[in-house]
Amino acid sequence: MSQNKTVAFHTLGCKLNYSETSTLSRMLEADGFEKREFEEAADVYVINTCSVTENADKECRQIVRRIQRRSPESMVVITGCYAQLKPKEIAEIDGVDLVLGAAEKFNLTKHLQEFTKGDSTRICSCDIEDVAGFHSSYSLNDRTRTFLKVQDGCDYNCSFCTIPLARGHSRSDSIAGVVDNVRELAGTGTREIVLTGINLGDFGKGYHGGRQKEENFYDLVQELDKVEGIDRFRISSIEPNLLSNEIIEFVAGSEKFMPHFHIPLQSGSDKILGAMRRRYRRDLYADRVASIKKLMPHCCIGVDVIVGFPSESDDDFKETFDFLHGLDVSYFHVFTYSERANTLALDIKPVVPIPVRHERNKALRNLSYQKMQYFTAQHEGQVRPVLFESAEKNGMMEGYTDNYIKVQSPYRAEWVNSIVDWQL
Ligand code: SF4
Repeated sequence: MSQNKTVAFHTLGCKLNYSETSTLSRMLEADGFEKREFEEAADVYVINTCSVTENADKECRQIVRRIQRRSPESMVVITGCYAQLKPKEIAEIDGVDLVLGAAEKFNLTKHLQEFTKGDSTRICSCDIEDVAGFHSSYSLNDRTRTFLKVQDGCDYNCSFCTIPLARGHSRSDSIAGVVDNVRELAGTGTREIVLTGINLGDFGKGYHGGRQKEENFYDLVQELDKVEGIDRFRISSIEPNLLSNEIIEFVAGSEKFMPHFHIPLQSGSDKILGAMRRRYRRDLYADRVASIKKLMPHCCIGVDVIVGFPSESDDDFKETFDFLHGLDVSYFHVFTYSERANTLALDIKPVVPIPVRHERNKALRNLSYQKMQYFTAQHEGQVRPVLFESAEKNGMMEGYTDNYIKVQSPYRAEWVNSIVDWQL
């Protein structure tokens, strides 16, 4: 293969997708490609798609059109969750050359070698049931914070979610494999690692998934705590039913695992949680929050919540609102429910009108803002360690405290990628 083929990437969706794109990009560079920015001309464009993004197909189409206008001779490859879910639809987009499903994503170089621009569009994807194997990945933008994928797929079947259809069964790296990656990252000067997965608390089902866990998340965090050279770890998101007391106690006692959890709630109504097929009820959630706050009163807790799920009445929403209002959490990520093909939620009636969904979203976003203000005010005057990042914006730099409070300071080059004691 010619040494000077160029490639550019575009990522839609979650942190997992970003870490996978980052790994794909390093893989291709190792295979002789030169990386370009997406806005530049390149021989190959790779779009890593997401199934959760609303209008994923529209977005994909727009991006392909942009590429075609700029460089009609370039090869266009679409991969990621949306490519797994709707390969045919994507292949029909004018200008798309290759569609790579979940199992083929990491064979990108091989597919590029076998394909010539001008061949008819090729779809390389298999049934998601047959997708096995774990590919670890991490993002490596600046050295400050890295997202390290340690788990993929999900064995739950929440009624609104397409992720199991797009990413397959729960499977994961081994603890030894994660430790190796963490050591490698420590060698690059990385200060903070965010452990990332689709259902992270389900870590331990091995490379090919399976019923039994071979290892577990608690063992993983204990081992990572011993690795030299990394200052901070965060747990990106963990299901409340998998966040055990032993994990909470461990984080409370660890100097490296930051006092910060992100725990999906999705609804504060038990009726809706049942319809969503979630594996806990609101009391368990409240209990998890209380356990965390008892040991770590300064801990930041983020919440995912979905509004407008089918059959969510005004009263059900009020229950969610009141529950969150009374809960000692710090911020929410609010998602407006939207219909997804092949999900069980499509059969649940009545559907919530779109304007009502948006009103509910707004109400919770306002509450989230107040929660974050309150959480920040609670720590005013305290001195907390801040890890500053490299980006400079209008002469300012940003960083996060251990408990995830965002701090801004006039830019000082010597603070980049350093942990500084900072008075809030
Ligand atoms: S736990 Fe539920 S929402 Fe999360 S990925 Fe699995 S099925 Fe989807």
